Amino acid sequence: MEFSSRYSRQVVINGFGEAGQKALAKGRVLIVGLGGLGNPAAQYLAAAGVGTIGLMDKDVVSPSNLNRQVLFRPDDTDCSKVKLAQERLSRFNPEIKILTFRQSLEESLTPDILRQFDIVLDCLDNLPDRLRLNQICLNHRRPMVHGGVITFFGQLTTIIPFVGPCLRCLSPGSIFTCDCARLGVLGPVPGVIGVLQAIEAIKYLSGVGQVMAGRLLVFDGLSGTFDEVPVKRDPKCPACGDHGHEDRVADKNTYKLN
Ligand SMILES: [Zn+2]
Repeated sequence: MEFSSRYSRQVVINGFGEAGQKALAKGRVLIVGLGGLGNPAAQYLAAAGVGTIGLMDKDVVSPSNLNRQVLFRPDDTDCSKVKLAQERLSRFNPEIKILTFRQSLEESLTPDILRQFDIVLDCLDNLPDRLRLNQICLNHRRPMVHGGVITFFGQLTTIIPFVGPCLRCLSPGSIFTCDCARLGVLGPVPGVIGVLQAIEAIKYLSGVGQVMAGRLLVFDGLSGTFDEVPVKRDPKCPACGDHGHEDRVADKNTYKLN
């Protein structure tokens, strides 16, 4: 496979190389939520050459988005986020395919759609939708990279279904509420976490490095520190616990932790 020179700084990386770039070209990433996290994740995945990127969001742009949703401009107000992002990302990298889904999570996340992707990024902004996405990814055995932000803080973990812990395995208090409308968020903070989500997806697709399964990364923008908290799979977890999920547990070798 011949790669265009736009990827030359990646192809030259020892241990990534042409094989890594080829894996990205074949890779398919679904970004659920095109807000502060989804914007930078989409931009960097497009720049890195991920062959197929799905964008799922039913919202339109509002002025309060603009401190962190860097794909959008003031004159985009009331326009569809996924449509604008598709246009801009396609111009930015015409070598990749951008698919859009502008329905609610319930309408969009069907098995047919999930089958089109290798990995899902949780770039949502509320806990009920995150837990719904967590369950759907478990049901359809798709790995999911969770990212969350609030004020100056961010967090991230990668979920490998039935191998590592899922979002429900974490104690409820350890997942950010992400109530940014009420509590606020500093624009660059989702930039940090969204880009880290893109790196997780790239590692998963290429098999290079270790994804953050069983590890919760916590970013404190005030002190400028990253901490890592080990998290374990809960055998009694209502979403991924052994009870009632024997078939899926038996299937766990489908996934490998990189
Ligand atoms: Zn679980």
